[in-house]
Amino acid sequence: MQEIILQARDIRKTYQEGTVATEVLKGVNLDIRSDEITAIIGKSGSGKSTLLHILGTLDTQSSGSLKFKGQELSTLSNSDKAKFRNKSLGFVYQFHHLLGDFTAKENVMMPLLIAGISSATAEQTAKNYLEKVGLLSRLDYKPGEMSGGERQRVAIARALCGQPQMVLADEPTGNLDATNASSVFDLFNQLVHEQHTAVVMVTHDRSLAERCDRIVEIKDGTVNV
Ligand code: ADP
Repeated sequence: MQEIILQARDIRKTYQEGTVATEVLKGVNLDIRSDEITAIIGKSGSGKSTLLHILGTLDTQSSGSLKFKGQELSTLSNSDKAKFRNKSLGFVYQFHHLLGDFTAKENVMMPLLIAGISSATAEQTAKNYLEKVGLLSRLDYKPGEMSGGERQRVAIARALCGQPQMVLADEPTGNLDATNASSVFDLFNQLVHEQHTAVVMVTHDRSLAERCDRIVEIKDGTVNV
């Protein structure tokens, strides 16, 4: 059964640069549910990344309420936000953001080790997830030794291996050619539904958005669904 994981109410964001104030978000209302991929679309500069960063507590709204399973997030301290992200969220970016000096397995293990999981368990979990994304033969490869599609698969394994309740994805296939983008999305789609994860995915690619469970559009700084 789907459950509301995140509730955003009247989220506003103004960037102040010197004397110039830019109001990017002008009252966003949005519910994010488990077992559902919500695509956020909108023109370039419409505030998609800003909203995603706020939903993931990487940035703070100027005003408005953001509740994760009923708990207000904006009042958490920075260190509590970091703990919350590590425990409950996963992130996938357009550029994989893997650590170049570490192998695929070590990259996937990293968030588990940070969460205090023993290295033996972290290693086994990383192997399981790299197997799920079809990369058992690449465990000891470094990002520079893998293709773009393989790197995004590692990034997906890293985002999902801690079984986060919500995953935030910013153009996760935006750097791949159409065939690779499609197969990486299929895999992501399958895994997040297996884990009943809530997903917010920013994309400018309408055909990809149409393969998600729901599309919401940011227009004139607002989203109302
Ligand atoms: P999108 O992801 O839809 O392309 P963004 O959220 O990146 O849009 O940006 C929305 C608007 O906010 C843009 O006009 C951008 O210039 C502005 N903006 C984003 N981040 C900052 C920042 N840190 N400081 C000032 N303005 C910003």
